[in-house]
Amino acid sequence: NQTKKTALITGGNKGIGFELVKQLAEQNYQVLVGSRNRARGEKAAASLQNLGHDVHFVELDVDRKESIQLAAEHVRQVYGRLDVLINNAGVYMDGNSPLLEADQDLLERTLKTNLLGPYHLIQSFLPLMKKYNYGRIVNVSSGYGQMDGMDEKGPGSYKLSKLALNGLTRQLAAEVSGNIKINAVCPGWVKTDMGGPHAPRTAEEAARSIMWLAVLDEEGPNGGFFRDGKEIKW
Ligand code: NDP
Repeated sequence: NQTKKTALITGGNKGIGFELVKQLAEQNYQVLVGSRNRARGEKAAASLQNLGHDVHFVELDVDRKESIQLAAEHVRQVYGRLDVLINNAGVYMDGNSPLLEADQDLLERTLKTNLLGPYHLIQSFLPLMKKYNYGRIVNVSSGYGQMDGMDEKGPGSYKLSKLALNGLTRQLAAEVSGNIKINAVCPGWVKTDMGGPHAPRTAEEAARSIMWLAVLDEEGPNGGFFRDGKEIKW
């Protein structure tokens, strides 16, 4: 069905990512659940297929370039296009450890997943967007990545990774052309495995605050950073 748009959500098997899959499927998108774990990804996809949604599992570990390239090749062959990419997969591993005391391996893994993953995803999937001159890319960032916050203590590796993801967003937004848009968004503090049980927002609310960037029309913004539909400081 050529009129139906196709969306890929990384880390779509749980948390905010799963809610994004659900909400895009409800908007009649064909949605691909990117998951590094086949069993978890297939289970998540099946739970929405059972509700009648057009949702499919795609194996995707954003830490591995080969996995990203294989996923892009799979999407090209099977679906022939990609209209929406949401870089949602992310890790928060440092508790509140300052950057100077960060475990080296943990710092590198955090940057790999939160920064280099989105970079390789965008690079690999852009050709599938350029084909139809349409693309909406959303990088799920965090208020922790805001420049002002760099004057304060906090989870150093995570903060640095989201600051860099914001930089990536602006740089690539400046480099793409045509009807392709790349924006960053902060979902707020959300009750998920990452956000913990005390967070005030549900994953469903967070996904709703992100959705509009995935379905932007041609007049919509490119290269912005948003929370709840409002532009926020870098
Ligand atoms: P969760 O921990 O609930 O989910 C994270 C998802 O990312 C899981 O599906 C996980 O897969 C996946 N993931 C992690 N590493 C990889 C990888 N290498 N390859 C593929 N998938 C991977 O987190 P949230 O839903 O809360 O977070 C989603 C995004 O929102 C993240 O980018 C996070 O930084 C951001 N965010 C969250 C906030 C919050 O309060 N929750 C606040 C601000 C930003 P698996 O199940 O296999 O582990």
